[in-house]
Amino acid sequence: MHDSVSGRKEKGLNTAQPLAATEEDFNTEGTEATEKKARTLVPVLGLLRVLCGLCVKFLFLTMGKVTGFKEYTREMPARRPIADRLDDFLEVYQPFAHTSVQTQAARCMDCGIPFCHTGCPVSNIIPDWNDLVYKSRWKDAIRVLHSTNNFPEITGRICPAPCEASCVLGINEPPVTIKVIEKTIVERAFAEGWVRPEPPAIRTGKRIAVVGSGPSGLAAAQQLNRAGHWVTVFEKNDRVGGLLRYGIPDFKLEKTILDQRLEQMTAEGVSFQTHSHVGSNVPVEDLRKDFDALLLAGGAEQPRDLKVPGRDLEGIHFAMEFLPQQNRRNAGDAVENQIRATGKNVIIIGGGDTGADCLGTTHRQKPRSVQQFEIMPAPPPERDPSTPWPLWPLQLRTESSHEEGGIRNWSVATTSFAGDENGHVKQLHGIRVGPPPKFEPIPGTEFTMDAELVLLAMGFLGPVRQGAVEQLGLKLDPRGNISTDASYMSSVPGVFAAGDMRRGQSLVVWAISEGRKAARAIDLFLMGSTRLK
Ligand SMILES: Cc1cc2nc3c(=O)[nH]c(=O)nc-3n(C[C@H](O)[C@H](O)[C@H](O)COP(=O)(O)OP(=O)(O)OC[C@H]3O[C@@H](n4cnc5c(N)ncnc54)[C@H](O)[C@@H]3O)c2cc1C
Ligand code: SF4
Repeated sequence: MHDSVSGRKEKGLNTAQPLAATEEDFNTEGTEATEKKARTLVPVLGLLRVLCGLCVKFLFLTMGKVTGFKEYTREMPARRPIADRLDDFLEVYQPFAHTSVQTQAARCMDCGIPFCHTGCPVSNIIPDWNDLVYKSRWKDAIRVLHSTNNFPEITGRICPAPCEASCVLGINEPPVTIKVIEKTIVERAFAEGWVRPEPPAIRTGKRIAVVGSGPSGLAAAQQLNRAGHWVTVFEKNDRVGGLLRYGIPDFKLEKTILDQRLEQMTAEGVSFQTHSHVGSNVPVEDLRKDFDALLLAGGAEQPRDLKVPGRDLEGIHFAMEFLPQQNRRNAGDAVENQIRATGKNVIIIGGGDTGADCLGTTHRQKPRSVQQFEIMPAPPPERDPSTPWPLWPLQLRTESSHEEGGIRNWSVATTSFAGDENGHVKQLHGIRVGPPPKFEPIPGTEFTMDAELVLLAMGFLGPVRQGAVEQLGLKLDPRGNISTDASYMSSVPGVFAAGDMRRGQSLVVWAISEGRKAARAIDLFLMGSTRLK
């Protein structure tokens, strides 16, 4: 599979040079008359060159709709009414008609240098599948999409879409709805039965252990299995999926979406072993003996704590104690003593994505009130000048959970918690603070709020060190993540690392990207060559 840029190169088209003529393109030395003539010719030839460029693009690159970006505006699928969605944990977005998606795909300008492609961590070949969708070539579109992304049905739902932030159309217009197009392509492919198991034709006889079944472990497992190796995924939890299963709420990602992909992987020959905690009930030495290579993809599970007086009171929990319980309940499990927001004043500390997920889950449990705290000042409503296009913009984001209610508080810090006679949290004491990096408390702004449930969503501090990481004696980087060389190999030969365990808390799309790259490196390590991308 070629990307747009290399495809253009093969067709002999220059992808990097400007289309307009420059002075060096003409020899203007000589008589004054010749110079004058040349000066007149420059803009004319320049215009001709632009027109020719467009014709070549139109005729040979067969771009779908040259004027689509001028004719159509950005449209997104509607969210379900708030009152309806607060009564269940089903996905927030309503379906989008295929014809509407094709219109959106027609907005793609098929840029000479597609910044969206480089903005996407898995390097999805976005202009190509936009074009294929516009032309109703859905089956080809999924082939192109799958060539770079193992799980587009997941990124198409929960990726923050850095591609859209770097879309060239986004410089002066709303960007192309890349994520929705991605989701629609793969949804259609599943519905049509085009997503089938792809077991390898030949087995190499090599065995690889993948520790952790989040998106990085799963992407690596699928790639390595397709390269012909026997892959076993070890997962300490009772179900496979990592944070996709037990972190991200169902209203963002229903778990049937994950299950259909796991069915495909199982049919391809990947083996999953749940209740298998490597470094605990599965000795690391056994894996070293029984497998030719080991990939650690255990995530960044160490939460950042809030060490203030009263932290030990009942009713103060990490987000990752609260969220998985609701996902288990949605899956039909009985959850004893579930942490619930029902009827309580809830304070969520942390204004990021995990905080937003706590907010949405809290709303569905019908609290009395919800406040969300963030120590950083409120970002501007539009892209901040410090992050110009095509960078990921610093700007206020309003997720579906924010739309559902709750109050967002910026530039606030918690100073202590107070409890009742039973040792349960009753109140939070806080203060307003100045800007980073000092966050200096502002005298006279102290406040107290009622809180019977406090959720800590302040990020993660890298992988859990006790267990497999310590037992293997792995070198860590200055941030406490597993240190690897450029080929994803840790300080112990034959032991590789990928995903949040290697790069720290990040995104699903980065985890998939890392899993694929680590798989490639492992295949190369075992076989001396690789065809994995
Ligand atoms: C609440 C929440 C919401 C998020 N929402 C989004 C979002 O909307 N979009 C987005 O792009 N990103 C989101 N993220 C980030 C994203 O989920 C992670 O970056 C991604 O899941 C990392 O993938 P991973 O495979 O590296 O690790 P994980 O998904 O964390 O998976 C690691 C797995 O390894 C297992 N494991 C760990 N140690 C062992 C061991 N010793 N033996 C066996 N198994 C082990 C764990 O049980 C876990 O299942 C969110 C994160 C959180 C916490
Ligand atoms: S994976 Fe994310 S960044 Fe890449 S194309 Fe899809 S939405 Fe965009």
